[in-house]
Amino acid sequence: MDYNWWEALINRWYPLDGIERKSDMNVYVDNAATTKMSRTAIDAMLPYMESEYGNPSSLHSVGQRAAEALLKARQSVAKNLGCEASEIIFTSGGSEADNQAILTAAILGARKGKKRIISTAFEHHAVLHTLEKLKKQGHEIELLDVHENGMVSAEQVKDAIRDDTALVTIMYANNEIGSILPIAEIGAVCREKGVYFHTDAVQAAGHIKIDVKEQNIDMLSISGHKFHGPKGVGALYVRRGIAVQNLIEGGAQERGKRAGTENIPAIVGMAAALDEACAHMDENAAKMTKIRDRLIEGLLEIPHSILNGDRERRLPGHVNICFEGIEGESLLLYLDDLGICASSGSACTSGSLDPSHVLLAIGRPHEIAHGSLRLSLCEENTEEEAEYIISSVKSVVERIRSMSPVWRDLQEGRKQYVIQ
Ligand SMILES: *Cc1c(COP(=O)(O)O)cnc(C)c1O
Repeated sequence: MDYNWWEALINRWYPLDGIERKSDMNVYVDNAATTKMSRTAIDAMLPYMESEYGNPSSLHSVGQRAAEALLKARQSVAKNLGCEASEIIFTSGGSEADNQAILTAAILGARKGKKRIISTAFEHHAVLHTLEKLKKQGHEIELLDVHENGMVSAEQVKDAIRDDTALVTIMYANNEIGSILPIAEIGAVCREKGVYFHTDAVQAAGHIKIDVKEQNIDMLSISGHKFHGPKGVGALYVRRGIAVQNLIEGGAQERGKRAGTENIPAIVGMAAALDEACAHMDENAAKMTKIRDRLIEGLLEIPHSILNGDRERRLPGHVNICFEGIEGESLLLYLDDLGICASSGSACTSGSLDPSHVLLAIGRPHEIAHGSLRLSLCEENTEEEAEYIISSVKSVVERIRSMSPVWRDLQEGRKQYVIQ
């Protein structure tokens, strides 16, 4: 086994002498996992917790003011996605929206004898696990291969669609490696073939431009906490005419498609956060791209390192790099000691020995996939932080390698480098 817990523990316990923490540095670069709520979102929410606490289903004025806030939030989210307010269903987050979209298409397709669903091998688990469940129920799932640069082409989708295909579900941008997929092209193919197209746009919303009509998207998922809104709230866009199926039975909220008293503060907060993110999208992206590119440039100076995800078609704040001879978890713990909060890729796989399914999908071997570092920025990160990250990662990688028997084998020629 290449992956060695014992080695990881020794790395962890070895003191960090010689590597200095700048005391004033607290760097959060894990915005793909979750973001800090913006002041705008918090301020928008507070009245709906303090004084405007009505239930939108109530006929009295307190309830009707909540209903008014709900409508405004729906209109605002719709405007920022390029659809009608009536096409938005609020959910408990991105995961629920993904589940609802996929189950909707599965049920509608099965009624017409279409039981095939096309997706990719590097989707979020909210998509992959829903598909696994459908597979057990007799649906046929085809996961398209992902190119080494983190791309899936519209051609691949076109070639995979058959008469019995009910749905294509492909993410807008990948949460681990940041690659942005050709969604408009895939949407055009699906529309032409008459197949439903859903996209998990959780990493894209508020960060890059979305227009569901222009891009021929039938269903799209977003999540509030990935763009400085609150956690536990999301939305699903469903194109008019598609008979969306409900996951939760109960009252008539969300046109009967998602029962349960609406989480008005969270919905209002998410709408405000999305509106703010979209209003400042270009300037935020320009700022982050500059820092992202500096990070990529600086970190790739480390010998035997490689960037994951396409160099150009990637989210403005997303960096993911593999270092050979490194165990990602110990790198993260050392960085945490230095005041840097980063990730190895996926919050979901941490704590398990399995390497990231995303890195495996783009063809990284197990031992390389274990040595990944994901840095996901927000517009508040600075160039000074980037320099601190670069020098810290350089020192820590060197330190970990100096203690690693795997690295010694590589250096002394008993093993071949995978990353040149
Ligand atoms: C975070 C994330 C989700 C899940 O969203 P939640 O609101 O946390 O349920 C789904 N898909 C992608 C791509 C994500 O990054």
